[in-house]
Parts: sequence; C-alpha cells; structure tokens
Amino acid sequence: GPCAVEDPDQMDEVAAHLAGRGVRILRAGAFKPRTSPDAFQGLGEPGLAMLAEAARRHGMAAVTEVTDIRWIDACARHADMLQVGARNMSNFELLRAVGAAGRPVLLKRGLAATLDEFLHAAEYVFRAGCTRLVLCERGIRTFSRDTRFTLDISAVPLLKMRARLPVVVDVSHAAGRRDILAPLARAALAAGADGVMVEVHPRPHLARSDGAQQLDLPQFDAFADALAPWIPGP
Ligand code: PEP
Ligand code: MN
Repeated sequence: GPCAVEDPDQMDEVAAHLAGRGVRILRAGAFKPRTSPDAFQGLGEPGLAMLAEAARRHGMAAVTEVTDIRWIDACARHADMLQVGARNMSNFELLRAVGAAGRPVLLKRGLAATLDEFLHAAEYVFRAGCTRLVLCERGIRTFSRDTRFTLDISAVPLLKMRARLPVVVDVSHAAGRRDILAPLARAALAAGADGVMVEVHPRPHLARSDGAQQLDLPQFDAFADALAPWIPGP
C-alpha cells in the first residue's frame, strides 16, 4: 500500500488494484514518524478509518504503524496488525504495550540495529503476550549513498535460523528509489523471505511522503510480474 493514508479515494484506488493482483495485506501509515517536524505527519485517527474501510471493502487485512503508546487503542481498533517502525525498535515501553494489544505485530529492524538487538526487541513484544510476530528487514545505515539504506540480505537467512518467525523484507525503504525494487525483492525471496513489503501509490508524484520510492499501479504490475514465480496469484 501507500506510505501514508492521504484520502479515501487514494486508499480505495490502491486497495482495489492490489487486491485484484492477489495482495492480501494493505499497509499504510496514519501516524507517520518523520525526520523533519515540517514534513507531513499523517492524518491520525481519521486516516485509520480510511485504511480500515479500504481494506474491508477489498477483503484485505490492514496494517498500520503505531508511533506512540497513546495511539495503540485506536490503531488496534482499526487495523488487523500493528507495525513498530525502525525508529521505535528500541522504544521498549512501546514494544511492551504493543505486544499486549492483542494484535499481531510487524516489527521493523532499527536503522543501525544488530541482529541481536533486533531479536531482543522482538523478545519484548513476545513476552508481553504477542506470539504472532513478523520481523521486517528494511535496510541499515551504511556509507553508501546510492540507496537510502543498504538492504542486508544476510539478515534474512540469519533471522530465519535464529527465530522461528516469519521474516519479510521492505524493499521500498531500503532502496528509497523505485527502479531497483524488483531485483531486491527477488533477492529477498531467494534468500528465504516469507514476504515482501513495497510502497504503492496511485499517483506517486503527488504523494505527501516517500514519493521517490513509491510505485504507481502499472509499475506495481510489472513488479508483481517479476516476482510471479514466487508469489501466489489472485
Ligand atoms: C514505514 O514502514 O512506513 C516506515 C516509516 O518505515 P521504517 O520505520 O522502516 O523507516
Ligand atoms: Mn514510507
């Protein structure tokens, strides 16, 4: 799904398209952790309702990021799964509270977290009562400037070996650009990833966040075609 929930039409358009391609999980942010306080911060609670409605209408599960303990109840009411983002992977009180919310959790690796640190963070969520936990490799900070982050493919088999949990790879935030997403996703799946996260927006040039990395709908179709050998059809 898109980086952020922006309006009902955007959500319905993207959900309809993705559901038609067999995608089962719709992810979009209503509470956005942004590097700059001047950047779009998300629609908040009204955005949660737009996400939930689009997912419901097209038979998909909804995932959204929880950036603060204050938003857990609202997010858990509207979404089927709660995401903890990279910037909050070490927010241990948030991990505990999200783990106790009764929803499956998508935990993203911190920007500079070792796998030990990542797995300890997962343990916080698990011990709070959440056994339905998915780990997400989303790239780490390195000296490379050609991509936004550096996708750590090694993390995929290592996490699979060390934690008996599903591992997914977010290629969009790793790359920060849309032109290399298909090869990165193929690499992730070849390395054993259970799923791929990719940002898709009906009009990326108008997106209020992460415009440079989001695929438009025809680009998503080409991406999905490139992964066809690995993913189930509609
Ligand atoms: C996101 O998935 O919306 C996001 C902000 O990613 P990350 O936390 O990995 O930077
Ligand atoms: Mn994004």
